[in-house]
Amino acid sequence: MKQKVSIPLLKDHHNHPSFYALFKDCLNLQEIKDKRKALQMAQSLDRDRISVVLGWNTGFYSFSEEELNRFPPVIIVNLSLHSFIINAPAEAELKKKYPDIIANYKDPSWYEAHFSRMLIFLADMVEPTEQKIKTLFDSLYEKGVYYAEDMLLTGEKAYSIINSSPYRGRTAFWADLATFKILNPGVQRGVKGIKLFADGALGAGTAALDIPYNNGKKAGLLHTDDELFRQMQEVAILGKGVSVHAIGDKALFQVVRTMRKLKSGGISFPEVRMEHCQFINEKTAHEAKELGIILSMQPNFSDDSTVYRDRLPAQYLEQNNPFRMLIDKAGFVPGKDLIFGSDGMPHGMKTALQTSLFPPFPQQRLTLDEFIAGYCMPDKSYGAMEIEIDDSSGVRVCIFGSIS
Ligand SMILES: [Zn+2]
Repeated sequence: MKQKVSIPLLKDHHNHPSFYALFKDCLNLQEIKDKRKALQMAQSLDRDRISVVLGWNTGFYSFSEEELNRFPPVIIVNLSLHSFIINAPAEAELKKKYPDIIANYKDPSWYEAHFSRMLIFLADMVEPTEQKIKTLFDSLYEKGVYYAEDMLLTGEKAYSIINSSPYRGRTAFWADLATFKILNPGVQRGVKGIKLFADGALGAGTAALDIPYNNGKKAGLLHTDDELFRQMQEVAILGKGVSVHAIGDKALFQVVRTMRKLKSGGISFPEVRMEHCQFINEKTAHEAKELGIILSMQPNFSDDSTVYRDRLPAQYLEQNNPFRMLIDKAGFVPGKDLIFGSDGMPHGMKTALQTSLFPPFPQQRLTLDEFIAGYCMPDKSYGAMEIEIDDSSGVRVCIFGSIS
């Protein structure tokens, strides 16, 4: 069956525009599968300043210490953003300003525990400009994204540029606690809320599941209950909303029980969100609903059930992104307390729709109406996209219209 409809542009509730804008035109190795070509490109980087290279897929190649140190000063970031390597010329330069990062970044658990700081550190290497911000928002628009909420403000300068640009109405800013504390009061007022982390990521095997990964390793929580309680309490005192990254069932349960404790102590927030929630079980879902927590989820991560088949225990493949349980059993309502975004992996309407309507498992499936309610602008006055949904062809979602 073929269906052609026009729908409003995306309201992407979880993205990183101030981060992605900085690196839009830096060297990206994602498509470079030939190591010789990667070596050549890295040789021609700027000799006078530290460059950031993104998209390195360790499945394609790695660099020897000698190769790495022949490059101009460089930080080469893993595709997942969950690790990077730094060559000696760059390390020599960076250890003055960032001694603890240079001493610890090679330790995966240290990196994970300081993940948002690592992104801010990378962002520090590049100057935000009006042009970079414009290029990013224009390219989002072309991909069908009107609004992209910024889950990690990279700094005051990016805030000022966006806030005095035509794009100010197309985002809202969340900041990590450390960044928030050093912002000037005017910027602090403009920040919507504080982003915290309860666990790591699937790609790095650090999302906190109740049982071990297929390699036998277990991932722990980033904080004790007391630490998370104190962090959330600090956010409440600031009067800001709170958004907690939690992927594994163990992490999600921790956030919910901490919220319950805060609530029974009379502590409240203007808004409470959990980000990703991929392995939320039915019990935790009911409790989250009762506590008024908004689930901010990414339909594109339904594909993790295929991509991470190697590391995820079999029962977890089916339990990833259980949208049917959340809507049909726990009573979450798309657009109200169930909202959708992409994390920029990748940006755009096409993957968002494809993975929502045609996910690997039936319980991950959203209807078109649920998609529009949870993932689109309120109406077509911000622009619209024509889509073709074809149940029988390989490419089931085809965007053929342009933005009006
Ligand atoms: Zn994110």
